[in-house]
Amino acid sequence: MVPNTVETPSVETKNPYQLAMQNFEKAADVLELDEDTRTMIRNPERVLMVNVPVRMDNGHIQSFTGYRVQHNTARGPAKGGIRFHPGVTLEEVMALATWMTWKCAVVNIPYGGGKGGVACNPKEMSTGEIERLTRRYTSAILPIIGPDIDIPAPDVYTNSQIMAWIMDTYSMTRGHLVPGVVTGKPLCMGGSVGRNEATARGVFNTIECACQHLKIRLKGAKVVVQGFGNAGAISAHLLDSAQADVIAVSDSQGCIYNADGLHIPKLMLHKERTGSVKGFPGSEAITPEELLGLDCDILVPAALENMIDGNNARLIRAKIVAEAANGPVTPEADAILDDKGIFVIPDILCNAGGVTVSYFEWVQNEQHWAWDLNEVNTRLEKVMKRSFQEVLEVQQQRKTNMRTAANALAISRVVEASTIRGLYP
Ligand code: NAD
Repeated sequence: MVPNTVETPSVETKNPYQLAMQNFEKAADVLELDEDTRTMIRNPERVLMVNVPVRMDNGHIQSFTGYRVQHNTARGPAKGGIRFHPGVTLEEVMALATWMTWKCAVVNIPYGGGKGGVACNPKEMSTGEIERLTRRYTSAILPIIGPDIDIPAPDVYTNSQIMAWIMDTYSMTRGHLVPGVVTGKPLCMGGSVGRNEATARGVFNTIECACQHLKIRLKGAKVVVQGFGNAGAISAHLLDSAQADVIAVSDSQGCIYNADGLHIPKLMLHKERTGSVKGFPGSEAITPEELLGLDCDILVPAALENMIDGNNARLIRAKIVAEAANGPVTPEADAILDDKGIFVIPDILCNAGGVTVSYFEWVQNEQHWAWDLNEVNTRLEKVMKRSFQEVLEVQQQRKTNMRTAANALAISRVVEASTIRGLYP
């Protein structure tokens, strides 16, 4: 089921696993890794595909396909979210698990990479159907998860309630409460304060570092945010609080612009009330292409994968692209941004705040202790800023770009752990 080799496509591919492998090979070349070492760490360690039969509200049974992939566990238990989405495929889950390995390694938290998903459309399912799907999927992947083995978390269309059901299902089979089996739980069930805004805080911390490095004043800097959801809206809010001017934002329904800066707290209320940023008083509607082409200092792609590709990357005029989303820039677009001299904060570094606070949640669960918000945010900032400096050092030493530097740093840490542990048997 797991391919041993991945062909390099001749035209730009949007197959996420091929993209992940292209980036792996590029960073492995920079590290001059030999083929044996690449072979040891390239492919997922374990791929589980499960059938998830669910009794629907109409009395009939519907069957869903679920996956859990553990890409690499050399540095610690696998860590990564669970996605409930109609577009979930094995290759997507393999790519996301691979990215999680590098993400945990680049911020140096003691985890490997994993990811899970079920191909389903939760928007068309009742709460009862989603709960039954979650519990049956959990029992199907139960033999390979656990606080020391593989720790799921929320991802697209899964949330803290779903994490509580996973924890309950796992705990019922073990006969005692095991909060450390998942992160992103509700606060009353061992969740961590600060988890909800952790990704955006990490994005903000890395933008602060990039501004300092490029000598751009954050106060008064012009910011554009693509995707006004959890990661995008909170990043916009933090940047706005630091007196940057967020001049344009978008969501799946439209793009809005105000050259003097949008009032972000009011925009968040507008989105909460109407479900979209569209029609925000005092803003002008623009097209997605116009949004990308705006003259700004910082562009934050915070929507979905592959949003910036070979066709639209040329439009970008930002000085910094801060990848809050996972995989928002295709390799072809990456080369264009490179040519334009745009400084990219790569996803595995930029949005690693979420998994970092997930790690803090797990540590608190293991210690039966809860930290306060200040402790969470202070530790997070330290991890993000240290990681940024470490990636920047590699970028300067190896004379490469930030993405390859982040991948190279992450891969070198995984190689070091794998080499020290040795190949069993
Ligand atoms: P979300 O669903 O809360 O927000 C996504 C936003 O993108 C929504 O506002 C949606 O309307 C918008 N969007 C969708 N299609 C769009 C389009 N074509 N143009 C413009 N906007 C569009 O999701 P999220 O949790 O904020 O995640 C966003 C990205 O960040 C994803 O790539 C996710 O993997 C990544 N990420 C999130 C976290 C986290 O903790 N939330 C952590 C790491 C990475």
